[in-house]
Amino acid sequence: MTPLANATKTADGVMVNGFVLSPVVEQCNGCDRVREFEGEQFCSSYPVPASKWVGGRCNFATHVKAEVTAAAKVNPLKASKRAAKGR
Ligand code: SF4
Repeated sequence: MTPLANATKTADGVMVNGFVLSPVVEQCNGCDRVREFEGEQFCSSYPVPASKWVGGRCNFATHVKAEVTAAAKVNPLKASKRAAKGR
């Protein structure tokens, strides 16, 4: 697993850029944003992963499919440009 960048251990806990981090929660298992530091796992995006799961799925989770919303629907023009790039 990718190590946690800029992490230091302080009396208050593991700190990154002035934030004290809480370890990831069970729901984070499998997410690409999980980082490891001294045997514990932390989120590279949020200091308190548990709060990202209160009342629904974390909006940055890479391992859980988002429900399809109007905004997430594929734009046909962009999709054809992407397909053209892939050639
Ligand atoms: S992005 Fe969300 S799901 Fe992924 S590790 Fe961070 S808090 Fe957990």
